[in-house]
Amino acid sequence: MTDLFGETPVTEATSNHFVEVAAFVPLRRTFTYRVPASLREAAVLGARVAVPFGGRKLAAIVIALRDDAGDVPENKVRNIAAVLDPEPVFPQELLSFLRESAEYYLAPLGEVLRAASPALRRESLQALRKTGFLKDSDKLTGASVATKKTLRIERTGTSLDGIRLGSSQRQAIALLEQGKPLTLEDLALVIQSPRAVVRALEQKGLVTTQTLELQLDPFFASEVVVEVTPTPNPAQIHAIDAITARLGQAGGFLLQGVTGSGKTEVYLRVINEARSRQLGALMLVPEIALTPQLVSRFRARFGDAISVLHSGLSERERSTAWQSLRQGRVTLAIGARSALFAPVPNLGVIVVDEEHDSSFKQEEGFRYQARDMALLRAHRAGAICVLGSATPSFESRQLADRGKLTLLRLPERATAQSLPSVELVDLAREKSGPSHHPLLTGSLERRLRECLDQKGQAILFLNRRGFSPSMRCGACDEVQECPSCSVALTEHRREGRMRCHYCDFSTSLRASCLSCGAEALEAIGVGTERLQDALASVFPNHVVARLDRDTAAKEGVEEVLARLRRKEIDILVGTQMVTKGHDIPGVTLVGVILADQSLAFPDFRASERTFQLLSQVAGRAGRGEHAGRVLLQTYQPRHEAIVHAMQHDYEGFYARELTVRNDLGYPPYSRLVAVRCDAAGEDEARSVATMLGDLARAHPAALSDRVTVLGPAPAPIARIRARYRFRLLMRSADRAALRAVAESLVQRIEAGIGAARASVDVDPYSML
Ligand code: ADP
Ligand code: ZN
Repeated sequence: MTDLFGETPVTEATSNHFVEVAAFVPLRRTFTYRVPASLREAAVLGARVAVPFGGRKLAAIVIALRDDAGDVPENKVRNIAAVLDPEPVFPQELLSFLRESAEYYLAPLGEVLRAASPALRRESLQALRKTGFLKDSDKLTGASVATKKTLRIERTGTSLDGIRLGSSQRQAIALLEQGKPLTLEDLALVIQSPRAVVRALEQKGLVTTQTLELQLDPFFASEVVVEVTPTPNPAQIHAIDAITARLGQAGGFLLQGVTGSGKTEVYLRVINEARSRQLGALMLVPEIALTPQLVSRFRARFGDAISVLHSGLSERERSTAWQSLRQGRVTLAIGARSALFAPVPNLGVIVVDEEHDSSFKQEEGFRYQARDMALLRAHRAGAICVLGSATPSFESRQLADRGKLTLLRLPERATAQSLPSVELVDLAREKSGPSHHPLLTGSLERRLRECLDQKGQAILFLNRRGFSPSMRCGACDEVQECPSCSVALTEHRREGRMRCHYCDFSTSLRASCLSCGAEALEAIGVGTERLQDALASVFPNHVVARLDRDTAAKEGVEEVLARLRRKEIDILVGTQMVTKGHDIPGVTLVGVILADQSLAFPDFRASERTFQLLSQVAGRAGRGEHAGRVLLQTYQPRHEAIVHAMQHDYEGFYARELTVRNDLGYPPYSRLVAVRCDAAGEDEARSVATMLGDLARAHPAALSDRVTVLGPAPAPIARIRARYRFRLLMRSADRAALRAVAESLVQRIEAGIGAARASVDVDPYSML
């Protein structure tokens, strides 16, 4: 795998009388400081320090040690003021990995280090005030402080008799009477202003509270699944043996196993083996809120010795989790993409589950692909990296085909069930069924009825939340658009509003057209809300629930999934939230309402994504004792992605789609860099994009045809948040050449482009 990445930078110095630091500011260059004798012991590589910087005071990270100040005149060099943590935040392994990531993505090192740092402890800041480095009004730029505390709430024995309660108070009591203590965060999922409600209940003597200092985590509050550890089957044994044989060395694996083939069992055993050899482990999952089940399986196996890192943690919790890993008290971390930067001690293995998932790509600020960087980090740390998927990304599968990753397969489901049978419904031929609801075809209704008659459960996938995705005026034919974005407003009928899904704009649902005023608005198309209503009227005796961002905000994903598992829901309608790795035995029917949706994206990966999505969602069916069935509704029944997904044929799809990529010169046969520009005025945005495009084309690497420059062109969504957007795409099979051109653009952008903004995205995923 060595030729995947360059060589590690080495730093050599015999003392740390001087240090080079990366300050927490979006600057590319680093700065030299003197270390006073009293701080020399603590100011080591990876330490977080406070430094004077012009007239400001900044947090920074020591990234290199120096015997002297180098080119900087000694009298110009200032002292570092303090070391901010008891031990360096970044162990060396992590620090050099972060440096390399910053370089790879052309991101300012200070910004990357800040993004990866835990919040600063309050005590450290107080110390800086004591020494006088910070005045009372001063702030330490770049450091954020853990301030959030939470309450643990428990029901007392006091009876409710004769006590009057408001509705939120009643709800809180009902939850607490289920027997477990809850936190404010738990309550916040269900009631508004939980703190005020709890205070009122406390005054009435109904609950007691306790301020929490320790790590607390919503996932640790949920029930632990007690599961019987399965005995691995031959395919699993082969994979486990192959992977564990390399523990303690660098090595990469692609575990390609169909949905339900028992990949998780392989991860668990590999991690268990690593732990028994005192090696740390890191497990990356797409979206942790959608995978409570996976987390509980890890807890069932490893107890509480796990750091679960997710966006729901407060800064304080994150900082605590960081410390416990840093100090080696915990050696296993699970989390979404940013857990890539967790300071796991003595790293032995990184697992990336559902490696094809696009959520591993960070799309803002420091744009990185956590899966690719997991390979790099593992390689540098001398650890193994296991990428797992039923439908590997073409990039990862290519690495396996070229021998850079070892391909391991789990070709069959681990339980007795085979993969579900898939039936296609051609929407061009079969319009709506007997109930006349759009997209509710006769075939779908029939299969639903069969499923429900046999006491099965169904999941229906439709990737559009809201009632209808657009509204059109029958008089002037205008689609109702967001005033700041070039996108249609979505009708949210239950809420009585029209919303833009790209900015915060919403307006109350009205009958009259925003453009001509005629009272003639019609709902166009079907969203999850409308589908749910239709199903509720066709199946009035069954429970039809919905899981999308709107319902998740109220009830919480975990709770909806738990209700589905408890069979309190017969039909679950939802967006991509229902497609993830849930393993719910009662689900025997999966319906994809409109398989064409993701094909319509202006993106060379549209087919690949559709295939992955359809395979994933189909994989939710028939995981228990009854066989599953999948219904795919589509207008393009002969599309490659759909035909191959129907036949569970990854290999056929991959082989065919690769020839298309090769013909067009797209990844994995080339690499891409996207440049996005936006500005308040359309001309301004276009002229900056044109200027950058001309600059790229004038680069020797482009002149010699090693790099192709495409565009600029208006972005597919031409305006978002009142800013016009243009993009450029640069493509090359020669990584160094592409990088050279991208670097020249970054320099130009940083030299100033007026009020316009531009960003460079290395290995982009989003083409919007
Ligand atoms: P994947 O991650 O590949 O989709 P899972 O790891 O979720 O699959 O496994 C699917 C189901 O099969 C789970 O319920 C799991 O407990 C079960 N399972 C895994 N391995 C075995 C095995 N060797 N024998 C029986 N059941 C197994
Ligand atoms: Zn908008």
